[in-house]
Amino acid sequence: MSEEHNFLHHITGSFAQPAAENPTVEMVEAAYRHHGLHYRYLNTEVPPEKLADAVAGARAMNWAGFNCSIPHKVAVIEHLDGLGESASVIGAVNCAVRRDGQYIGENTDGKGFLKSLQEVVDPAGKKLVMFGAGGAARAIGVECALAGAAHITVVNRSADRGNELVTLLNDKTPVTAVLEAWDGDYTVPAGTDVVINATSIGLADAEAKLALDLNTLTAEMVVADVIPNPPRTQLIRDAEAKGCTVIDGLGMLVNQGITGIQYWTGETVDGNVMRARLEELFGAA
Ligand code: NDP
Repeated sequence: MSEEHNFLHHITGSFAQPAAENPTVEMVEAAYRHHGLHYRYLNTEVPPEKLADAVAGARAMNWAGFNCSIPHKVAVIEHLDGLGESASVIGAVNCAVRRDGQYIGENTDGKGFLKSLQEVVDPAGKKLVMFGAGGAARAIGVECALAGAAHITVVNRSADRGNELVTLLNDKTPVTAVLEAWDGDYTVPAGTDVVINATSIGLADAEAKLALDLNTLTAEMVVADVIPNPPRTQLIRDAEAKGCTVIDGLGMLVNQGITGIQYWTGETVDGNVMRARLEELFGAA
């Protein structure tokens, strides 16, 4: 491991920062420990008006990179030196990476999702139905489209947001995308290959139901949920009961972490170690 990558080498003094238990920190640090990677992953709260200072601080300390979450995913772009391809199409960054002294914005949310999807099915040429049109849906839609998905039906509560995503997908990627209204229980069209919940329905609520006619789910379909906590959402349990292949939100979280660590350290880490730590925190049952 090169000392250049170890930011602790570059500062004099130590951080004394209260740190609440944070699942992403726990997950990434578990991988660092397991692989003996001499890195640290810290979680800090940055108010919007201090974002420029925070990025300048990362530059000053020569950090290998950083993740950023809502509300910084779009605002951070003006403080970076460039964007990766999908981050530029998505218009949002959740991962900054130092390359040749420049900080480049990437979006690993969609890449993480795509990796877990590809573990069970290649989206190339497939028909997808995706609930949601927020940040996660944007990232997932763009990555699946760039990976060759044939058709994406976006189902979203707000038509404005839904239309925005469909326009983005049709204009900036090769996929054909359409918006369908979400009135009552949605009927999944026959011939759909992959159904994705990219809304926040199910977060911290294992009983929360997605308005979906379960009788239209068939065993040939793959059903994926972005919700990592709790991982066994109502949708995952219902889809399993219908014989579908299911993908929970831990896969996306772990895979975006693997991609981030790869960008920052050049090392490919073991996702099982990261998933195990998340399961300890969130409960897998
Ligand atoms: P946004 O706030 O950007 O978007 C939320 C989406 O959910 C919108 O499409 C919104 O619809 C929809 N929605 C929320 N509540 C309802 C409801 N009651 N009925 C119908 N639709 C609803 O959030 P993000 O896209 O950033 O995040 C969505 C989820 O993805 C979060 O729960 C987050 O935990 C998860 N996520 C998981 C990751 C992982 O690694 N597993 C990574 C990133 C996110 P509308 O447009 O109508 O408001």
